[in-house]
Amino acid sequence: MKIIKQIEELRSIIRAWRKEGLTVGLVPTMGYLHEGHKSLIVKAVSENDRVVVSDFVNPTQFGVNEDLSSYPRDIERDAALCQEAGASLIFHPEPEEMYFRDNCTFVDMDGLTKGLCGMTRPTHFRGVCTVVSKLFHIVTPDKAYFGEKDAQQLAVIRRMVRDLNFGITIVGCPIVREKDGLAMSSRNTYLNTEERKAALILHKSLMLGEKMMKAGERDAEIIKAAMVKNMETEPLARIDYVEIVDAETLENVVKIEKPVLTATAVYIGKTRLIDNFGFEL
Ligand code: AMP
Repeated sequence: MKIIKQIEELRSIIRAWRKEGLTVGLVPTMGYLHEGHKSLIVKAVSENDRVVVSDFVNPTQFGVNEDLSSYPRDIERDAALCQEAGASLIFHPEPEEMYFRDNCTFVDMDGLTKGLCGMTRPTHFRGVCTVVSKLFHIVTPDKAYFGEKDAQQLAVIRRMVRDLNFGITIVGCPIVREKDGLAMSSRNTYLNTEERKAALILHKSLMLGEKMMKAGERDAEIIKAAMVKNMETEPLARIDYVEIVDAETLENVVKIEKPVLTATAVYIGKTRLIDNFGFEL
């Protein structure tokens, strides 16, 4: 698997692909790849002639007290997974290659980024929008692939692409879970045995919420209260948020009348995990 570290080298490879009339898909990741990432890559491979996987722990999307330095990294393992999934190359730049020391330009967004994860991570989506914009400019993909696991991120990227006329098709891919239901995440590696068991509470309470909606409950407060109560049965869990929002605008809903996103973030010990489900009437 080719690992490209320089922007200019990547650009020249992509120019050559374009000369041949090939289509290009992009899968942006922060590495430490698992089956969730692989599903995005496999989908991209099925829809494009060439697929670039970016593997970059983006410093600008981490808050000051977050896990930037401890975020798991293993480029050799990532390369093997990309090879198996059929990717064409990995783009794995150093932070200094991606950001000038005096970088002062960012892509930011009003709305959409203020609630949910934006409440506890106020600068996170500015970092995400900035790095994804940079990757879009560098790779110039026809299509880019994002997981529904990060549902707010997916909505934010769709909006950014629309508002800034990127002309790139954004493809959302379903959440891949462990056998017991825990959503796969690079951060699951932080969990010890006890915490790993406790982490199941996210999926369990989401399933409870989904069951209530399927049974016809339309009052968001009643569903949220039941989910919170369920989460509180797990002593290792500390809720960051449980919200039911409009699937497109991400604004809170009172009555469920349109497609909604039910999303949660929960600390299990020191590890902050997220999960969600979408519901259409
Ligand atoms: P990350 O490396 O965590 O930034 O994730 C890179 C991409 O993979 C994002 O678009 C995520 O939404 C997606 N992703 C991460 N975990 C999963 C999962 N369990 N299922 C589907 N997509 C995922």
